[in-house]
Amino acid sequence: MKLSPFSIQNYIPQTPIIIAGPCSAETEEQTLTIAQALAQQGIRIFRAGVWKPRTKPGGFEGIGSEALHWLKRVKTETGMFVATEVATGKHVEECLKAGIDLLWIGARTSANPFAMQEVADALQGMDIPVLVKNPVNPDLELWIGGLERLYNAGITRLGAIHRGFSSYEKKIYRNQPQWHIPIELHRRLPDLPIICDPSHIGGNRELIAPIAQQAMDLGFDGLIIETHHTPENAWSDAFQQITPAYLKEICEHLIIRDAYFSTEDLGYLRRQIDACDHELIELLGKRMRISREIGLYKKEHNMTVLQTKRYGEILNKLAHQGGECGMNEDFIRNIFEAIHEESVRQQLQSISLP
Ligand code: PEP
Ligand code: MN
Repeated sequence: MKLSPFSIQNYIPQTPIIIAGPCSAETEEQTLTIAQALAQQGIRIFRAGVWKPRTKPGGFEGIGSEALHWLKRVKTETGMFVATEVATGKHVEECLKAGIDLLWIGARTSANPFAMQEVADALQGMDIPVLVKNPVNPDLELWIGGLERLYNAGITRLGAIHRGFSSYEKKIYRNQPQWHIPIELHRRLPDLPIICDPSHIGGNRELIAPIAQQAMDLGFDGLIIETHHTPENAWSDAFQQITPAYLKEICEHLIIRDAYFSTEDLGYLRRQIDACDHELIELLGKRMRISREIGLYKKEHNMTVLQTKRYGEILNKLAHQGGECGMNEDFIRNIFEAIHEESVRQQLQSISLP
């Protein structure tokens, strides 16, 4: 894929690129109020969802085409570029007609090759930047495939948005970051700008700042952050939206690393290691929680905590698997002995609770 040198970064020469605005355009007044506050603090790209893909029927599904007029007003009255999500050929046509500057494809759409192709067909030969969110499921090939469909339709000002991956189990994040996936995307397509969406990864206001910093540490090109003048009253994603004032504070405190990381850069590689460590700790935490649940089960069924036979079998299997992955088998045994020791300690602790 040969991306045009006239990429998103050149189009909006701001580092990092910040895209901000509400999850959804709710009313004309809400849209304009938020846009004006953001324009005043120098934000150059305004986002607002016009058509909202909702998990269940009956929720607020976006205002629809009427809100495109509000975005046009934002454009003329603030001078900001305006961006919205498209999921069908009809959405694309309406946005092009309304003069929307930048489009993004949502995570549910990028997971569906038929929908992606329909959007790509509607964009055939158009000169508009398009950002593709990662599919809801952690499938890098599907993400790249969606980008390729647009590229084949003649769209060369492409970018990706990392918004995390859905998982059945809710942990601290609404969508698991799985940083290694956008990192691998960068390795495969080094010219493709990648923007992080801490709002949909975190699902919670408190997590926006740390996730945004982590993205900067990993050399992401920008951030897309849901911003609302009264977040708690938002019609969608109320927990994760932040005020323009808080967005300003976050941006002022961001530590921006060297503008460019080559994939061989030492700092870049170290930050990848940090991201792996972070995921390892999360996974260990999850494992310990399951251990505690097992502890309670054993207590209820009068079983002993230590089931030596099962543990010996597991250790052999893991040592073998570790060997196949290029690691020393003794190293794997040592690690898992330590993990097992902590698991037993946690099981005993959960059993001794009243
Ligand atoms: C959004 O950006 O408001 C949105 C719906 O995002 P996602 O596709 O990441 O869920
Ligand atoms: Mn949202």
